[in-house]
Amino acid sequence: MTNTNQNDLPQDSIFTSPRGLPPFSGFKAEEVVPAMQAALADAARAFDDVESKAPTMKAEQLLASLERLEDPLGWTWGLANHLNSVRTSDALREAIEAVQPEVVTFFSRLGQSRVIYDVFDGADLSAASPALARAVELSVRAAKHSGVGLDGAAKDRFNAIQQELAQLSLGFSNTLLDATRAFTLTLTEASEVAGLPESARALYAQQARGAGHEAATAEAGPWLVGLDYASFGPFLEYAERRDLREKLYRAYVGRAGPGGDTAKDNSERIRAILRLRQEMAQVLGFADYAALSLDSKMAPNVGAVEGLLGDLFTSSKPAAQREHADLEAFARATGFGEALRQWDIGYWARRLREDRYSYSDEDLRPYFPLPAVLSGLFAIIERAFGVTVHARADAGPAVEVWHPDVSYYDVKDATGAVIAGFYLDPYSRPADKRGGAWMNECLGRSSVMAPAGSAVRLPVAYLICNQSPPVDGKPSLMTWNEVTTLFHEMGHGLQHMLTSIELAPVAGIGGVEWDAVELPSQFMENWLRHKPALKSFARHYKTGEAISDELIDRVLEASTYRAGSAFLRQLSFGRLDLALHAGFLPSAERDIWDLQREVMAAHNVLTPLAEDYFLCGFGHLFAGGYAAGYFSYKWAEVLSADAFSAFEEAGLDDDAAVREVGQRFRETVLGLGGSVAPAEVFRLFRGRDPDVQALLKHNGLAG
Ligand code: ZN
Repeated sequence: MTNTNQNDLPQDSIFTSPRGLPPFSGFKAEEVVPAMQAALADAARAFDDVESKAPTMKAEQLLASLERLEDPLGWTWGLANHLNSVRTSDALREAIEAVQPEVVTFFSRLGQSRVIYDVFDGADLSAASPALARAVELSVRAAKHSGVGLDGAAKDRFNAIQQELAQLSLGFSNTLLDATRAFTLTLTEASEVAGLPESARALYAQQARGAGHEAATAEAGPWLVGLDYASFGPFLEYAERRDLREKLYRAYVGRAGPGGDTAKDNSERIRAILRLRQEMAQVLGFADYAALSLDSKMAPNVGAVEGLLGDLFTSSKPAAQREHADLEAFARATGFGEALRQWDIGYWARRLREDRYSYSDEDLRPYFPLPAVLSGLFAIIERAFGVTVHARADAGPAVEVWHPDVSYYDVKDATGAVIAGFYLDPYSRPADKRGGAWMNECLGRSSVMAPAGSAVRLPVAYLICNQSPPVDGKPSLMTWNEVTTLFHEMGHGLQHMLTSIELAPVAGIGGVEWDAVELPSQFMENWLRHKPALKSFARHYKTGEAISDELIDRVLEASTYRAGSAFLRQLSFGRLDLALHAGFLPSAERDIWDLQREVMAAHNVLTPLAEDYFLCGFGHLFAGGYAAGYFSYKWAEVLSADAFSAFEEAGLDDDAAVREVGQRFRETVLGLGGSVAPAEVFRLFRGRDPDVQALLKHNGLAG
């Protein structure tokens, strides 16, 4: 495609470069708006052209044309957003906000094009490759779910429901935020913060300063405790004052509920959202909202999800009861005479954990310097998947990066040929880098977008973490959590980089269903439970001494501490979500609170409080994308644990067996990605459907 409208951009602009690895040093925030406007205008013109020719095009040609027009826009927009996440500035943020609405409008025009939909919907796929057939199928499915197939009154009603739902969601999250902010506990006596660690007291003092107590200090107070998790979590775990824990807990579970300020009550909004979702699903031809949600997930139907959650429930309920009895015994032995209530659990669970496993993150960190962790991770990847990872700094032409901490790596196959690459930006930089960790696509594998002289464009990933930076001349010493996160993101990266598919919508993580996308990432975390692998790289950064078996054992045991209780909690959310969206309509006879109480009572060792209005704070369902999909967390965990158990069964210490199973994993889960339905991909790898046993076993919950 020719660049027609980039007059505002200088010849040497990053945005007029050939759209390969970005020449980051040339990035200028002020060029984002003109570059995006040019890219949008080009894409819109190209789309007019494609729409006019589409009726005579074959599905394959149409997909290629769409990729050709979307890719330059995606490259430009992806680069701006990537830099906004890792090296933000006011100018860049403003530029993105300025063009965002036009981008949204353009992509909804694409997604809702009746012309495109008709071509794909009517395509004869009898001779198509599986990847092509699947790309077409996904496109039709997405368009259907956005109402493209509707006409007349049905379409109007669908659009009206969408608008209303968007408003209700926004209202839900604003109300939740207001209700969360409305409650605070201001503490002035040292006895009221007894037991709290310095970090929590510093946070509470900081919050007090923000609320007008300018002289507040961590040592002398006053301390202000709120209902946001950073504030609430530590208080329930550490505060010795039981009455204050109770006060905070009751406020937390009642927030945005009908027991308090009516202006801050989400319950009517929840009822309206449920009714509208049900109606929307029916307009689209589904029995209920759960059926609509599951239509674009790996889980085939409500029954299958219920079956899986039910199996996990059967195993975790007795474990949770045992864990509770243990906790009661421990509390009693430590001098606590009463029955444990909800606001006691966090506190005593923390004390029991410290008593049992007595190690801290600080004890582990010297064994996990970043360079050692990386070489361990790369060795695992090589052993399992037959690919090697090489720092570009060691060989080959330099690659530009956005910050001196960032490194670029080449991934090579067994013949030594480069097949992919990734950037790693490991350290936290709070001033200009977003928190959390993620994998993002820099370039996707594609034959349509192959550079001149090549058959294919190689995939490149961004792996972003936020771990402890090096201090005082020491390397970055990682916590267990940070090591796990790095392995996790590498799992996503491997699915992007080792894809064998060249059709953009289904290459790499493209087209992978919501409840299957965490399979490779959580799978990679599992390698950390293999002691020999761990011992091979966990070495003291000063002495080179390997981590002791005893410490590894404690870490691995601690990772399944109170697993039954944690499972039950997630299962209760998943089951409540499903029950709400599978045909339920709130009525005077059976309201949302009846349903919540039924599900919660079945999943809790303690009887829930009468004023527990948990649903009013359940943003995942009513202000996020998890409606009738909360089960995805556990679903993907089952898949990843079961996938890893194939390696365990073959023998983790047997090189030949690991290579063989690894090759199969590479060819199926990593290689096929979204080009084949995920249930089928899983069967191709595992030879059968997923089984919950491995996840239960890894968590000490198997019968
Ligand atoms: Zn993930």
